[in-house]
Amino acid sequence: KREADLAAKDQPAITTDGHRIEVAANIGNLAEAQKSVTLGGEGVGLLRTELVFMERPSPPDQETQARIYGDIATALAGRPLIIRTLDVGGDKPLPYLPMPHEENPFLGERGIRLGFDRPELLRTQLRAVLQAAGQGNVRVMFPMIARLEELRMAKAVLEEERQALGLPAIEVGIMIEIPAAAMMADLFAREVDFFSIGTNDLTQYTLAMDRGHPKLAPMIDALDPSLLRLIDLTVKGASRHGKWVGVCGGMASDPQAVPILVGLGIKELSVSIPTIPSIKAQIRGMSLTACQALAQQAIAAETAAQVRDLSPLSEA
Ligand code: PEP
Ligand code: MG
Repeated sequence: KREADLAAKDQPAITTDGHRIEVAANIGNLAEAQKSVTLGGEGVGLLRTELVFMERPSPPDQETQARIYGDIATALAGRPLIIRTLDVGGDKPLPYLPMPHEENPFLGERGIRLGFDRPELLRTQLRAVLQAAGQGNVRVMFPMIARLEELRMAKAVLEEERQALGLPAIEVGIMIEIPAAAMMADLFAREVDFFSIGTNDLTQYTLAMDRGHPKLAPMIDALDPSLLRLIDLTVKGASRHGKWVGVCGGMASDPQAVPILVGLGIKELSVSIPTIPSIKAQIRGMSLTACQALAQQAIAAETAAQVRDLSPLSEA
């Protein structure tokens, strides 16, 4: 099975009834970008730029960031590269970025909220992303967006920096990882090019269970019907405005979740690098029609356990 998946790694992931799903990778650096391409990855659905920041003693300057992002774009040779702006705070501290103690860091200044609090960090990064965009198919994505005002503010900062540099516009997306954003997806969709669902945080915030909690985390299942309903809402909101939706949380790499996500209308799965060949193979063995039927059953289920017990799709 593994051998066969590897042999077919460079074939596209097209269902038996002809629907193509893009299988991209979650990465943190150039080596991982290269690795993902050798395993058949069709682009990068999530570049976690915090990893670029965390491996240094001080924040990388604009030129350094532009070089790193540009090298990754070049390695992808025209495949899409979604660069997520710095997503620190919460469980991800930066040694050189002193943060006041917070009682509830996951509900505190993390993601784009920190970017607004430290505008020089966000602006420097956006300039670097715009600069790197000349070297490939680069898109930008903002993390932890909850409200429309935040998206508008982030886009205004991007546009200001773009005009100052005199560079062309790039596609803009947001993470859907806060329930508020999923519920407002039809309105967000008018103002972005794409969504990527961050199921790790979306699950944590929907169930109000800390994703790092020693007792609770093992009990969290992204196949909870509440999550599936939010994903359904997100896809419906996006498609009303002709926008596509991907998933970049860990759920995209779960073979039991894949047919359900495809059935809900997800167009891109950004997965962990080693799983690229097997997920592509799995998609080639299923039909969109069967996935849609399964997704409807899953949405109507009472519990995550029930969803997991639904009859798995036969793999051709
Ligand atoms: C997520 O929340 O699902 C996600 C992909 O982002 P991160 O895990 O980096 O918070
Ligand atoms: Mg997240």
